[in-house]
Amino acid sequence: MPVDIEKIETRLFINNEFVNSVSGKTFPSVNPATEEVICQVQEADSADVDVAVASARKAFSLGSPWREMNASGRRDLMLKLASLLERDRVYLEELEALDNGKPVAAHGKSYGTHVDLNLVLQCFRYYAGHADKIEGKTIPIDGKFLSMTLHEPIGVVGQIIPWNFPLLMFAWKICPALATGCTVVLKTSEKTPLTALHACKLIKEAGFPPGVVNVLSGFGPTAGKAIALHMDIDKVAFTGSTKVGHLIQQYSAESNLKRVTLELGGKSPMLVFDDADLDQAADAAHVGLFLNQGQCCCAGSRLFVQDTIYDAFVEKCIERAKKIKVGPQFDESTTQGPQVDKIQFDTVMRYLAKGKEEGATVKVGGDRHGDKGYYVQPTIFTDVTDEMVIAKEEIFGPVMSILKFSTVEEVIERANKTMYGLGAGVCTRDVGRALRLAKSIRAGTVWINSYDVFDCAQPFGGFKQSGIGRELGEYGLFNYIEVKTVVIPIDK
Ligand code: ADP
Repeated sequence: MPVDIEKIETRLFINNEFVNSVSGKTFPSVNPATEEVICQVQEADSADVDVAVASARKAFSLGSPWREMNASGRRDLMLKLASLLERDRVYLEELEALDNGKPVAAHGKSYGTHVDLNLVLQCFRYYAGHADKIEGKTIPIDGKFLSMTLHEPIGVVGQIIPWNFPLLMFAWKICPALATGCTVVLKTSEKTPLTALHACKLIKEAGFPPGVVNVLSGFGPTAGKAIALHMDIDKVAFTGSTKVGHLIQQYSAESNLKRVTLELGGKSPMLVFDDADLDQAADAAHVGLFLNQGQCCCAGSRLFVQDTIYDAFVEKCIERAKKIKVGPQFDESTTQGPQVDKIQFDTVMRYLAKGKEEGATVKVGGDRHGDKGYYVQPTIFTDVTDEMVIAKEEIFGPVMSILKFSTVEEVIERANKTMYGLGAGVCTRDVGRALRLAKSIRAGTVWINSYDVFDCAQPFGGFKQSGIGRELGEYGLFNYIEVKTVVIPIDK
C-alpha cells in the first residue's frame, strides 16, 4: 500500500490550522475495495461550521490581508498552489484511489485518478489566469455622469461537494471563489474526506492568509445543513442529488436568501442514428456510461439507438463492456474499481433487481462482482422502455440501458421527457441533424459524436431539475460576483 495510513491528515482545517471537531466526534473513512476502515476522521457539525464561518468572515473583512491583496497576488497564490498540487500529485492520486475506489491509471489512460489530477491542475491554472481579468463596465447613461460597474466578490461562500470526483469537485468549487476574492467554507462528502485535507496543507504552504479556505469533514443533515442555513454565509454552491438540491434552495429561503447554485442529478440521453460512425458512437456511449464506475451526474444513462442498427450496435456495446477489467484500485490492469460505499452499492443492486423485474433483458453482467468489496459487474440492459424505473431514475452505477427509436421527432420528444437536463449525446454524420438536435435537447451540454469531453474553460451545468447556474469557464465566475453600480458626476 503506497499511502502511509498513519500519516493521513484527518482533522478539520479552520483558519489555516488543523483542529479537532468541537464535539470530538469522528467517523470512519472506508476503502471500498476491502470494506476496511482506512482511518477515523474528525466530524464537523453546526458548532464547527460557526467557527469556520467566523474565520472566513474575518478573512473577508475590509482591510484583511486577503481583501488588501492585489488581484495579481491572488493569481500568483493560485499558481503556487497548482505547483504544490503537482509536486504531490502521485500522493494525491493514490490517496484519492484509496478513499474513493477509482483506479490509479497510468499516464495516457483516459480514466482514473491521474486524469482527475490533470483536470484539477488545469482548473487552478485556468482560474488563476482569470483572477486579474475580472473587469466591470462603463455605461453611457443620460446626463454628465460616469456610470460604472464593479465586480466585487460575493463574500463568504459555503460549498458542499459530492464524492464521485472528490478533489476535482473541490477544485471546481474553490477556484472561481478564490479568483474572485471570496472566502470559503467547504464541506467534503462524508464518503471521501481525505484528499481535500491534504490539499489544505498545500493551501497553507502556498501562503494563503488564514481563513480564506476552511474545509470541514462531516455529514449532510448536520454540517451541510448548517452551512446552507447559516445567516453569515452569502452564497452556497452545491453539487449532489436533486433531492438535496431542493433542500438547499429551501434552507436559503428559510435563512438569509443566500445566493444558490446547484449542480444536480441527471438521466442524460445519448442518441445514436444509423448514419453515425458506429465504432466512434459505441466508444462515446461506452465512456459516457461506464466512466468512473458509472458514477457521473451526466452519465449517458438512456442510450437511444435507431431501430435499423439496433442489433449491430448492441453487439458493439457488449464487446466493449466485456473488456472492462473490474478489480482493486491499485491493480494496474483495473479499469473499473468498486462503487464508493455500501450505500451506493446497495442502491445499484436494487436497480439491477428492478430492471430484471420490469422485464429488461440482461445482455452482460447484472450482478455483484466477487463477494468482497463493493464491486458491480458492468451491466447492459436491452429492451428497456421509457416507463421502466431504470430508464427514469439515476442509477449512478455501471449499468447501461439501451432503448430503441425510429424517427428524429420521436427521439427528441422521448429524450426531453425527463425532469433532468444535464447532458446529452448525439451521434450522426449529418451536420444539420446534429445541430437540430443540439438545439432541440434541453440540456446544459450536448456532445456530438463524443461524450464526457471536459475542459474547465467550457461551462457545465443543468437545465430543469439538473441545477441552477453554470460552473467552469468565464460563466462560473459570475456565481461569485456581486455587481455594484457606481455613479459619479463628471463636472460640478
Ligand atoms: P449522494 O447521494 O450522491 O451522496 P447527496 O446529495 O446526498 O448525494 O450528497 C452530496 C453532498 O451533499 C454531500 O456532501 C452530502 O453530505 C451533502 N448533503 C446531504 N444531505 C444534505 C443536507 N440535508 N443538507 C446539506 N447537505 C447535504
